[in-house]
Amino acid sequence: MLELLVVIFLCRKIGEEVRPKGYKPLGLQILAVVAWYGTQFGFGFFWGMQGWDDGWGFYVGCIAVGAAAGGSVYVFAKSLPAKNEFDEPVAGSTECPACGERVVNEEVVCPVCGARMPYA
Ligand SMILES: [Zn+2]
Repeated sequence: MLELLVVIFLCRKIGEEVRPKGYKPLGLQILAVVAWYGTQFGFGFFWGMQGWDDGWGFYVGCIAVGAAAGGSVYVFAKSLPAKNEFDEPVAGSTECPACGERVVNEEVVCPVCGARMPYA
């Protein structure tokens, strides 16, 4: 039960990391849960294949692989760059003096408002 709380906590932390950067956290949170339990399932399968007993080593190993997988998703979420609300100014473009739209330098008049571009 304690483990589930850790997973929920991890999901909350992922949400706190990515939300201010403009991402929806749900996909990453699902990924974290799937990664956590998926690796544990794989680990349990591997352990069973070896014919080893379910001793404390099994539980510690289980938590370790789950935490490592879930933690990697969190590290990934943390490393995500912030999403830009506005596009970076494009090289070779000029702001239209009339409407402020970014216009490529080849245009003689602004395609949005029709104003003559200053360099034309
Ligand atoms: Zn314009």
